[in-house]
Amino acid sequence: MRVAENLSHIRSVIENACERSGRSPSDVTLIAVTKYVSNERAQEAVESGIFHLAENRKEGLLEKRAFIKDKRVTWHLIGTLQTRKVKDVVGKMDYFHALDRLKLANELNKRIKKGTLNCFVEMNISGEESKHGISEDQLVPFIDALAEFEHLRIVGLMTMAPNTEDRDLIRSIFRRLRVLRDKIRDLHLDYAPCTELSMGMSHDYELAVEEGATYIRIGTSLVGDERKG
Ligand SMILES: *Cc1c(COP(=O)(O)O)cnc(C)c1O
Repeated sequence: MRVAENLSHIRSVIENACERSGRSPSDVTLIAVTKYVSNERAQEAVESGIFHLAENRKEGLLEKRAFIKDKRVTWHLIGTLQTRKVKDVVGKMDYFHALDRLKLANELNKRIKKGTLNCFVEMNISGEESKHGISEDQLVPFIDALAEFEHLRIVGLMTMAPNTEDRDLIRSIFRRLRVLRDKIRDLHLDYAPCTELSMGMSHDYELAVEEGATYIRIGTSLVGDERKG
């Protein structure tokens, strides 16, 4: 399938979900996750009019960035980042979705020489041990501790729902993230406006939009997965 065809389907799902939940589709930013596809396929996404691209690893980010020269693209790093790799990606991403520890925050802050990096704090709401992210009860102390990092701007919270068919469970996790987002937003911290919600992937973005997602990260159903066959 052409990216454009997948895109038109996804856009209509987003519009309907917005309609049902009294939201505006313009408040939902679609990010194409290109980690399982070639540079050329990522380029096709850009040509279809998607100007937000994401990779989950440093290597993928640097490779796609070097190939896609379009200045309109906003680059997102959505996967966990090892501290020793921070120096390679600073200045190469516009948004980082996986801030989950102070050591990493410290290293990012140290390496960024000017301006601020837009960060999402990654939350582990489901409590699955395999997942990255901080737990709910650590959120406020974590946000407090981020105050000293002048180059980090906490734009919102991010989570990944469990891979399950239980729609009610997924919905409850997205809802929980929104409550936490509201809680931090309402503190009115200069360094942590926390207005955004990064949640929803191929199998659950419709629920995420209904629950208030402002950034959705879609790979497989938008650009595909070239690892299979
Ligand atoms: C891979 C990935 C996605 C996209 O997953 P799909 O199911 O292919 O849409 C979204 N968010 C993160 C953090 C990812 O690693």
